[in-house]
Amino acid sequence: MRLRAVLAILFLAGCALSASTQTPLHDHIHAVRWERYQDEAVRLLEEYLRIDTSNPPGNELTAAEFFHRLFDQAGIPNTVYALTPGRGNIYAVIKGDGSLRPLILLNHTDVVRAEPRNWRVPPFSGEIVEGEIYGRGALDMKDEGLLQAMVMLIAARERLPLKRDLVFLATADEEVGGAGSAWMLENHPELLRGAEYLITEGGGGLISPERGTIYGIGVGEKAPFWIRLRATGRGGHGSIPIADSATNRLARALERVVDWQTPIRLLPSVEQYFHEVARLEKEPRASQFRNIRKALRDPSFAKALAQDEDYNYLLRDTVSLTVLKGSEQTNVIPDTAYGELDVRLLPGQDPKAFLEQLRAVVADDQIRVEPLSSFRTPNASSTDTTLYRIIEQVVHEYNPQALVTPTLNSGYTESQMYRPLGISCYGFAPLEITPELDATQHAANERVPVEQIRRGLKMLYEVVARAANE
Ligand SMILES: [Zn+2]
Repeated sequence: MRLRAVLAILFLAGCALSASTQTPLHDHIHAVRWERYQDEAVRLLEEYLRIDTSNPPGNELTAAEFFHRLFDQAGIPNTVYALTPGRGNIYAVIKGDGSLRPLILLNHTDVVRAEPRNWRVPPFSGEIVEGEIYGRGALDMKDEGLLQAMVMLIAARERLPLKRDLVFLATADEEVGGAGSAWMLENHPELLRGAEYLITEGGGGLISPERGTIYGIGVGEKAPFWIRLRATGRGGHGSIPIADSATNRLARALERVVDWQTPIRLLPSVEQYFHEVARLEKEPRASQFRNIRKALRDPSFAKALAQDEDYNYLLRDTVSLTVLKGSEQTNVIPDTAYGELDVRLLPGQDPKAFLEQLRAVVADDQIRVEPLSSFRTPNASSTDTTLYRIIEQVVHEYNPQALVTPTLNSGYTESQMYRPLGISCYGFAPLEITPELDATQHAANERVPVEQIRRGLKMLYEVVARAANE
């Protein structure tokens, strides 16, 4: 009953929206001959997927040149920036009238390696089989990169009116070291600094058989903070046990660490997420999710929720014990032993404060607790922006039943690097895919349905066209 009422409201909202969008922009979007551009998008994606940009080594310059050729043909000013031999970024811009700050479309051109043995068709063939385009990068993220490029081409050819500059930036090396974006930010910050918005990977529509389509808009990411615990002690022969050996001390300390429940901290975007997905839950969970802040005050509810892997990481800084190293030989008690933790901090957490809490849990001054790498402060973007609202509206026009919700990604995205410039960054891909297809990212048989590319092109253009004018 409740669900039906909500859907009715959505439907009405959709109608009101289309009535209010009978504007020159609306006419512009409807005058575009989509069929032709959709064919072109599919053809170009096949071509793009044939460029092998496996990283390492990357060879992203070939991808940059592919876009360079397209932009040149459409008369869009663009520059290829070579980083090292074979590697490079491309930046293109269509100027707006300057009354609003720029919108950046960001994508990475490198892909993770592929093991051809496990593929139905060769991973760099761009072949279409039963309505799906196969290729390494078909979902991560040559699909989105190509759609972003197509949006630029259509905007130029159809003379989309623009109040803000439209920027296209395709970078190298996202999958390994992020060198492409780091290079741009270091060498050409002036090309990016004034922007208001950025759209990149880290969001999209996931079709769940029981729950319907959920469009996640990535508004933040947790930040990796890798830590090593190193214990030292007296070594000796394994036949004569040493009670406080390095390995024994480490084992006891790690037991305390893995049992540690870090405090729950509810971010506004996560609170909003629970509020949205409440619609998909049965009672009493639906009410609890709708008022998650209050519900979490009940220790038994908090405990139950923490046992759900899909929700737990949204609520707290997490610790995964991943590396363990002691002796090389079974009969040798080593004088040092170490364990490594993959810690992920919520936006807003102070790494120094976390380290102090962890040291208190370890509670052993013969164990050194040290970060493994330098730390990048996690950040997040507000959902209270024009672009966020536009994405939500456009998704609902295409799929009134879809649930649109902010998501906090457990992994890293390059939005982290651009937010410090004052840019609101969102993970958004205009595609709806099944969990089965989603699981092909970084795995064998990565592929994307042709229909999703065709539909996604129009959807992304609509988001960009509106965002460029509101
Ligand atoms: Zn990616």
